[in-house]
Amino acid sequence: MIKDQIEIVQSRIQAALSRVGRTDPVILIAVTKNHPVSSMRDAINNGIIHVGENKVQEALRKQEEFPDNGATWHLIGHLQTNKAKMAVSHFDLIHSIDSVHVLQAVQHAAAQIQKVQDILLQVNIAREESKFGMTVEDFPEICKLASTLPNVCVRGLMCIAPDMENVEDVRPIFRIAHALYENMKHTFMEGQIQYLSMGMTHDFEIAIEEGANMVRIGTAIFGSRNY
Ligand SMILES: *Cc1c(COP(=O)(O)O)cnc(C)c1O
Repeated sequence: MIKDQIEIVQSRIQAALSRVGRTDPVILIAVTKNHPVSSMRDAINNGIIHVGENKVQEALRKQEEFPDNGATWHLIGHLQTNKAKMAVSHFDLIHSIDSVHVLQAVQHAAAQIQKVQDILLQVNIAREESKFGMTVEDFPEICKLASTLPNVCVRGLMCIAPDMENVEDVRPIFRIAHALYENMKHTFMEGQIQYLSMGMTHDFEIAIEEGANMVRIGTAIFGSRNY
C-alpha cells in the first residue's frame, strides 16, 4: 500500500518535471507526522530516505523507537525556541526558521554542541495570519544576518502555499518563492543555496513546475492523518 503510493508519487514528480523540461532531481520528503513508526519503517523499506516531522517531541519518540532508521530528518513545523537545543541535536535540516528570534535560538543551540546546523528560511509569501514565516520585505535583511552566523548554514527557502479552492491559484505564490530563492544565492557562498522546499500533497506538481526541488508529502503516501 505505502509502497504503491510512493511509486505513484514518484511518477507524478517525474511527470511534473518533464512537463517543464527539467532533468534535475527532486527530493521527496515523506511527512510521517501523526503516523506510527510502523508506517515510517514501511516507507524506509521502500526507498524513502528523507522523513519530515513537524514536532520535535514526536520525532524524538520515533527516533528512540526506530534507532537504526538511517533516514535524513527534516523539521518542517514551527520551532519553539525552548526546543531549539533538541532540534539541533536530532534534525539534519530545519526548514522552519520563520523569524530572527528562532534563527538566533538555533545559532545559540548549535554553538553549544559545536554543530553547524543546516537550515532553510521560511517565508510567508501570502501573508497568511494563520501561518508562520518571515515577510518578503524582511527576507533580504534576515538573509544578511544569517550569513554572518557561524553555527547555521542557510541552504535555501521553504514556503507553505495557502489552501486555495482552485490549486492553480497557488502558482503565483510559488513563482515568487522561486524568484526569492534565486535572488538569495547572491547573499551566500557559491553553491550553498540548493533547496527550494515547497509543495505538499495537493499542490506539489505545481510547485515542481515552478522550480521546487524538495517536496514534503504526507497524505499522498500515508493516507489521511487521525488527530
Ligand atoms: C503536514 C505538512 C506537510 C504534508 O502535508 P500533506 O498535505 O499531508 O502532504 C507538508 N509540509 C508541512 C509544513 C506540514 O506541516
